[in-house]
Amino acid sequence: MIKFKSREEIELMRLSAQVVSRTLGLIGEMIKPGVTTLELDRAAEEYIRDQGANPGFLGQYDYPNTLCTSVNDQVVHGIPNNRPLEEGDIVSVDCGAVMNGFWGDHAFTFAVGRISKEVRALLDATLESLYRGIEAFRPGNRIGDIGYSIQQHAEKQGFSVVRELVGHGLGKDLHEDPQVPNYGRKGHGKLCKEGMVLAIEPMINMGTYHVDQLNDGWSIVTRDGKPSAHFEHDVAIVDGKPEILSTFKFVEEAISKNNWIS
Ligand code: MG
Ligand code: MG
Repeated sequence: MIKFKSREEIELMRLSAQVVSRTLGLIGEMIKPGVTTLELDRAAEEYIRDQGANPGFLGQYDYPNTLCTSVNDQVVHGIPNNRPLEEGDIVSVDCGAVMNGFWGDHAFTFAVGRISKEVRALLDATLESLYRGIEAFRPGNRIGDIGYSIQQHAEKQGFSVVRELVGHGLGKDLHEDPQVPNYGRKGHGKLCKEGMVLAIEPMINMGTYHVDQLNDGWSIVTRDGKPSAHFEHDVAIVDGKPEILSTFKFVEEAISKNNWIS
């Protein structure tokens, strides 16, 4: 059942989303070769608590950490560890926070130092596909229109869309109805309406769309070992238009100051 949100609830969700946005900004300041994803995780947990929120992922479905840090061929749900990041890596940092009972859940894929042209194209296409999906999240459209827009753009750039993992409704629970696949058919699926709040999150692979889960029970990796990118925003329909509740403003500020990321 889809839980539609009031204006007041959407304003609370914006606060939760922006706790995550600021945390991703902090991560952007910290990323450089040599830093470990576990160090990023610890800093994120402390910073979320400092903002009066709770790290939502920690303990959710027994997940052990605050962040999901998915490096290179890891698609999502990478568990932070002691391996230092290296120049040329890409790392999707996905973060959840709960405040006033509402979730924020959003993600950015950072490039560490110089990356290849092909990987840059993958990041650019994934980010653009996110915005194409958001544009399609309008009253009168259907959930399939969102996935259709994402898929069209990603595949036109020569990349593939992960099928097994999807975006989702967001609210008092991390995963609410409806599911939001990053592929789809125009005019199919649930109707988009005022007050809907979605976490829209394309996961786009350079090679095959097939993925596997590692033995750690969490990490999703590409089957062919090629890189994967992931960007996520929290979006509500307000006044007949998609409104992005999260922001990459803090990440962009970090990118402008930190020569080790882009
Ligand atoms: Mg997420
Ligand atoms: Mg999500």
